[in-house]
Amino acid sequence: MVALNSEVNLSEAASLRVRNVRKEFTSLDGGITPGALALDDVSLSVAAGELVSIVGPSGCGKSTLLRMIAGLTSPTAGEVAIGAEPITAPSADRGLVFQDPNLFPWLTVRRNIEAGLVARGVLREKRGEVDEFMRLVGLESFANSFPHHLSGGMAQRVSLARALINHPRVLLLDEPLGALDAFTRMRMQDEVLRLWRAHGTTMLFVTHDIDEAIYMSDRIVIMTPRPGRIERIIPVSNPRPRDRSSPEFLQLRGEILEIMHFAGRSLSEN
Ligand code: ADP
Ligand code: MG
Repeated sequence: MVALNSEVNLSEAASLRVRNVRKEFTSLDGGITPGALALDDVSLSVAAGELVSIVGPSGCGKSTLLRMIAGLTSPTAGEVAIGAEPITAPSADRGLVFQDPNLFPWLTVRRNIEAGLVARGVLREKRGEVDEFMRLVGLESFANSFPHHLSGGMAQRVSLARALINHPRVLLLDEPLGALDAFTRMRMQDEVLRLWRAHGTTMLFVTHDIDEAIYMSDRIVIMTPRPGRIERIIPVSNPRPRDRSSPEFLQLRGEILEIMHFAGRSLSEN
């Protein structure tokens, strides 16, 4: 009974809730300018272990939403919570991976992966995991290489390992594969899916690439142009691994393109 309860609590703790969130950026003169509304009434729940993508045009507030969940910026109104706890500050519980892997150029792959453990003062007890995570992302033979010797895909693997080694309950990925060539990108999509499956991490994945969203996600959140609102949430139920040229895949792609084309129009035309 106790075990069951703690399981329930654990899975609730990795769920994410965004409720009626609004974000206005203050202008330089300190006032709120009319054009400064970035997000308007955004509500979204992500279940523990779910992989949800967010797609939407540039400037619609995708990064702002992720930064809010990371605890790097706060909503003007509404609330963001992980499990039952409101998010008020950054935490190792919520990992963030960007398009630019942002590695420390003067540190080796191993030291880059260890950096977060060093910062949290837990390297001594967690050192054994560093090798495990390097293996997990296929970088064990590059442990002593420096970032400038790595390809874009490899650097992004280091960045993923560096986030995952903290065992985040939620991983926030902001166009993480956006800088990679098409083939590396497809390989990395499989890599992220493999890590997601192995760790059961709740993932929120921002992408510009509709095929990527369909290939990877349990659900796809489509946002309107700025100010970002949620236009539609589309569940993707095709079994994985998904065939990018199957009729179901292509049909879904057509539907999403159409929704994106018209997203926000009915609102702005009123
Ligand atoms: P996306 O990631 O979808 O491209 P962003 O979240 O980066 O969009 O930005 C959403 C909107 O908010 C944009 O219009 C952007 O210019 C504005 N914005 C983002 N960050 C700030 C900031 N720190 N100060 C003022 N405006 C900002
Ligand atoms: Mg962005």
